[in-house]
Amino acid sequence: MWWLRRDLRVAGNPALTAAVEAARGRVVALFVLDDHLRAPAGANRLAFLYRALRDLDSRIGHRLVVRTGDPAKVVAQVAAEARAPQVFCAEDFGPYGRHRDGQVEAALRHAGATLHRVGSPYAVAPGTVVKSDGTPYAVFTPFYRSWRQHLDPEPLPPPPTVHWVGRPRLGVPPDPPITAALPDATEAAAQQRLRQFTDSEIEGYERRRDRPDLAGTSRLSPYLKFGLLHPDQVLLALGHRQGEGAERFRAELAWREFYADVLWRDPESARRAWAPTMRPLRADGGRLADSRFRAWAEGRTGYPLVDAGMRQLEQEGWMHNRVRMVTASFLIKDLHLPWQRGARHFLDRLVDGDLASNNHGWQWVAGTGTDASPYFRIFNPVTQSKQWDPDGSYIGRYLPELASVRSPKVHEPWRLPGGPPAGYPAPIVDHRVE
Ligand code: FAD
Repeated sequence: MWWLRRDLRVAGNPALTAAVEAARGRVVALFVLDDHLRAPAGANRLAFLYRALRDLDSRIGHRLVVRTGDPAKVVAQVAAEARAPQVFCAEDFGPYGRHRDGQVEAALRHAGATLHRVGSPYAVAPGTVVKSDGTPYAVFTPFYRSWRQHLDPEPLPPPPTVHWVGRPRLGVPPDPPITAALPDATEAAAQQRLRQFTDSEIEGYERRRDRPDLAGTSRLSPYLKFGLLHPDQVLLALGHRQGEGAERFRAELAWREFYADVLWRDPESARRAWAPTMRPLRADGGRLADSRFRAWAEGRTGYPLVDAGMRQLEQEGWMHNRVRMVTASFLIKDLHLPWQRGARHFLDRLVDGDLASNNHGWQWVAGTGTDASPYFRIFNPVTQSKQWDPDGSYIGRYLPELASVRSPKVHEPWRLPGGPPAGYPAPIVDHRVE
């Protein structure tokens, strides 16, 4: 039996290949709708997940078995119904996933079956990259150098020939209502985006990747999040390509793996500061903090780059990386709110929302994480805007109130004669003061 979680693809899937070999081609594919994960997922991520499951179901002759409930009960039950003594899945390294898999393993053992963890959502599994004395890296650059030594660009297994034998009863639920326009949640769309990026967009990635006004990044993050694409497939598509674009892109993939490693070693760091010295830090609460949080979340801070980013998040369930840093910095360093509050909001909206990348991305900005720079890592929302969105076209795309402003003052509209245009707020705080 093949138990899918966040590896929703049939190509290059070692857990599926192992299930096919063990069961001589007759495989049940099971997905468990687990409320423990559904509750915090956010509507955008759930809609993307359900669409990806529907695509997968249609590709396997509508044989995908979807059940709701506690995985420890459901997996053992479906394995017993299918008379499958062996269950295969990719290893999960997240805090909840590890706990859940331990329970499923025990339930299966009790029923005389076995759970096999084959492969992972990473090119190099968490826990693998260590210093020569066996201790982990706490800084990205040396981690990255060592990570590269572990890469093993072996061709991935082709999609196996499978006789799907599941007896579906439920089907995938309908999408929750969403307003964001999400990318196509299919394995084919993931492959196509990968090809287009590696064939023609990778050159110059290192120059364009910080510019939110350009389509300068791969937009592969939702596909990597749900395993419609595996990082090995991305690395293989890059091949031995040299050049600054390819080098920089490999390093970005490694950030995802670094944060997975950091979270695996310290699961509590999903919620509290990774750096012990930063744990006593206190942030603001109360009614003023609540109203500032709302202004930030709704894109009404009066700082155009921050507001454009927050509205991109609402409209697309995705935000450009540079703007994620600027909006996060604004919440923490200008509004003095806890990074956890912003991280929760991002996880509720992002279609690529991932506990390790998100919460450690937030900790990087806060200066409480692995790369601690608490005092001087401050993003100036105006200079960032001038530098990375020079003619204000990103701002104009998401803030119709400012779309007609054709001057550098689009970055600081309070300097326009007569103040900000009608409908756009004055800054809620003064960055120089905060
Ligand atoms: P590209 O620039 O094309 O990068 C390729 C891939 O590399 C990405 O798809 C992603 O898997 C990985 N990657 C790139 N940058 C990072 C990074 N800084 N950290 C970890 N992985 C990276 N990424 C998520 O996948 N999920 C999140 O929930 C998430 N939350 C974030 C929150 C904050 C506050 C910050 C600063 C960053 C966050 N990131 C997150 C990282 C990054 O912003 C996104 O991965 C990136 O914007 C996705 O767009 P892309 O696929 O076009 O990226």
